[in-house]
Amino acid sequence: MSILIYAEYAEGKFKKTTLELASYAKKIAGETGTTVTALTINANDAATQLGKYGVDKVLNVKSDKLTAFNAKAYADAIKQAAEKESSKIILFNSTTDSLYIAPLVAVALEAGYASNVVAQPVSLSPFQVKRNAFSNKAFNITEITTDVKVLAIGKNSYGVFENAVSATEEEFSPSLNDADFSVKVESSEKVSGKVTIADAEIVVSGGRGLKGPENWGMLEELASVLGAATACSKPVSDLGWRPHSEHVGQTGKPVAANLYIAIGISGAIQHIAGINSSKVKVVINSDADAPFFKVADYGVVGDAFEIVPKLTEKIKAFKAQNS
Ligand SMILES: Cc1cc2nc3c(=O)[nH]c(=O)nc-3n(C[C@H](O)[C@H](O)[C@H](O)COP(=O)(O)OP(=O)(O)OC[C@H]3O[C@@H](n4cnc5c(N)ncnc54)[C@H](O)[C@@H]3O)c2cc1C
Repeated sequence: MSILIYAEYAEGKFKKTTLELASYAKKIAGETGTTVTALTINANDAATQLGKYGVDKVLNVKSDKLTAFNAKAYADAIKQAAEKESSKIILFNSTTDSLYIAPLVAVALEAGYASNVVAQPVSLSPFQVKRNAFSNKAFNITEITTDVKVLAIGKNSYGVFENAVSATEEEFSPSLNDADFSVKVESSEKVSGKVTIADAEIVVSGGRGLKGPENWGMLEELASVLGAATACSKPVSDLGWRPHSEHVGQTGKPVAANLYIAIGISGAIQHIAGINSSKVKVVINSDADAPFFKVADYGVVGDAFEIVPKLTEKIKAFKAQNS
């Protein structure tokens, strides 16, 4: 009856979102008197890393066939782990990979599925969860009545909490067949040397207020000092000032960073829809009536061309003093 989480593992570690997922599962396990099992694939040192956040048992699939992401095969492995553990609650992150797999697992287990979950369950019986709706502009309460429930939890929905237990680890060998590999990744290219928007704790984002692509140097310098990813509003990528991969918002990428710094962005609802899940929002805009200030935690009214270089210098000085 263990709660099962799919623990995404990449480049030698578990992402912070996975540790948050473990913390989230531990809380429910505490309330329901059960344990947390993590299914992971080709991970090293999994029990130590995940045990710190409350995972009691790790099922580690070691397979040369699963070194690259394969939705069908991964989903099949997770389904079999859920059956082995008799899991009634199966939890995923909201990464691109997990959102691909979670519905496949739900269908295979005839489970009810809720994505965009933003908090601990509102109620365990009946089983109700709070979810983002309408591009993050509203919430809904969703009830799942099936015996098995599959949830995809949004980033920053609960937090990362240490809860050390001595986790056990066992190798898990799901039976996979040729049909599991009927779709496979042939090659992949990764942007190197830059923090990606999806992984970033801090995002520095620019809008049309920056006037042109030639002015992005100051924004990139601020991002570099902060170890942040750079992002932009839709018109900026439409104009070709920045690549489309940086466009955030309703029609772009969602951003759930700890800190989102918006520079020269007006704060249209379509932009806000994509960054709502970020924890702290800082807005720099010359127009005191810009709508972005309504959702900002901190706001600076002024010219970005004066403020951003000063901010960068101050942060550099702070880092030099405190290193
Ligand atoms: C269906 C649909 C989907 C959309 N999806 C998205 C989306 O996903 N993402 C998105 O971003 N937009 C989206 N949009 C567009 C959105 O409605 C806005 O038009 C867009 O976000 C505005 O971009 P901006 O804030 O960069 O530009 P502007 O609206 O032109 O705002 C520029 C801001 O910069 C400020 N500024 C000017 N000069 C300075 C200065 N020197 N220093 C500081 N501030 C300055 C101005 O006061 C202004 O607030 C969508 C629109 C539609 C209709």
